[in-house]
Amino acid sequence: MVTKFHPPSLVRDLYGLGVRHVGENRHQDAAPKAQEVADLDLSWHFVGQLQSNKARAVAAYCGVIHSVDRVSLVEALAKFDGSVDVFLEVNLTDVPGRGGVEPAGLATLAESALAAGNLRLRGLMAVAPQDESPADAFDRVLMYRDDLLKVAPGATELSLGMSGDFPEAIARGATHLRIGTAITGKRPQGT
Ligand SMILES: *Cc1c(COP(=O)(O)O)cnc(C)c1O
Repeated sequence: MVTKFHPPSLVRDLYGLGVRHVGENRHQDAAPKAQEVADLDLSWHFVGQLQSNKARAVAAYCGVIHSVDRVSLVEALAKFDGSVDVFLEVNLTDVPGRGGVEPAGLATLAESALAAGNLRLRGLMAVAPQDESPADAFDRVLMYRDDLLKVAPGATELSLGMSGDFPEAIARGATHLRIGTAITGKRPQGT
């Protein structure tokens, strides 16, 4: 469940309904929120773009980081004193720098994650582009995963699918859906 922009009270309500995994995309919002509901047995997932200088602070409360997209971020996470589960985010748009490694850089990034002793490489994460059908975009992710598995045989998992495209993601074997508005309704602010 992606709870970004929602207050800690919503996280608490969701917990009461059985939610145990929450996703956030901004450290400055997520850190105090996690603090306020620290009494709950929750797993925090980081799904947004992450600056290297915040990597260790995020790893301190997020056990899973879905948006690892460059070697410098891997190196920053490698300095965290503890283990972190990571997904490599692949950019499905034609626009470089959209968040996500270019597909051509995936193998190098995977090798760096494997070389960092404290990162558990779970698989790929992607966000479907606006201008392509999610089915086609996710089909490409499956191809990239075939390539990834040649260097990282254990990295089988897929973080795919948001409110608008989760059926297509499930059909392609998504292991992690990142759903916000389909469950919470409109966010109070932002996107
Ligand atoms: C906000 C966000 C989501 C959730 O989006 P919804 O459309 O509200 O389901 C999923 N993934 C990422 C990376 C996000 O930033």
